[in-house]
Amino acid sequence: MCMPRMTGSCACGAIGLQAEGLSRRLSVCWCEPCRRWQGLCGMGIGARAADVKVSGPVRIWRSSEIGERAFCAECSSSLWFRARNGTGLIELTPGLFVNACDAVLDHENFCERRPPGLCFIGRQRQLTAADYAAQAPVTGPPAASAEDPRAGGCACGAIRFRVDWAESRSGACHCRTCQQWSGGVFVAVTVRQEELHVTGAEHLLHWQSSARAERVSCRLCGSKLWYRRTLPPDNPARGDPGDHAICLGVFDVMEGHPLTSEIFIDMKPSGYALAGDHVRQSGPEAMRHRGQ
Ligand SMILES: [Zn+2]
Ligand SMILES: [Zn+2]
Ligand SMILES: [Zn+2]
Repeated sequence: MCMPRMTGSCACGAIGLQAEGLSRRLSVCWCEPCRRWQGLCGMGIGARAADVKVSGPVRIWRSSEIGERAFCAECSSSLWFRARNGTGLIELTPGLFVNACDAVLDHENFCERRPPGLCFIGRQRQLTAADYAAQAPVTGPPAASAEDPRAGGCACGAIRFRVDWAESRSGACHCRTCQQWSGGVFVAVTVRQEELHVTGAEHLLHWQSSARAERVSCRLCGSKLWYRRTLPPDNPARGDPGDHAICLGVFDVMEGHPLTSEIFIDMKPSGYALAGDHVRQSGPEAMRHRGQ
């Protein structure tokens, strides 16, 4: 039987994909390159590279001796991870496809590095770094040694930042743009413009994602850094222009920002869900509240 052909695209639309025979299993990875690159955690669905047709400006970052990550050169949407181990398999990011291509969360890698206060519900298999090393041809990267909760940076290290103060909570957005840009789930912490200090700013890639906002990433590795409003929202009480919603995954230490809200819950793919008794708003509800 012929598998249906699925079509996907990056957030800016410059990259188009057609894929056949996609796995219906979704994996999550909490290792450091994955979480910095996608802004929370790695998310992937398996495919044979030969069954995926891609058009548009793909940029490749060699994330390790044996791994490479592809992203859109214009908007930095995460496209895929490939281990250069001769299997011909790639992990496409689920966010490229509507409803994550109906894939269902199957397992989490490097589960011991998942921050407390942020958890996917379900009975998916939980694999530690040791489990991963035992079953995979290569061992994963070491855990971060940094201890400064106010510091962060992209996966390749070209961009580093420090914040004077950050909110102690985080919020998730499941809108299509966030899914496509991150490749999965966008979770961020709010930081005011004057309290963010960046080094390596010449490597920032600014993509105007709407009339009122931009998304900023590392041009070299594609790590997702932050979302920023560029015009005041209609309801100024709900946030100032210049506030940065910094991706939780690019902080050196992810702990200390438990998830307290999810918006665009009506667009969340059905194959995964975040745990917790917190506010969940549909897209229309969130737009009314935030005046976007
Ligand atoms: Zn793009
Ligand atoms: Zn980088
Ligand atoms: Zn969003």
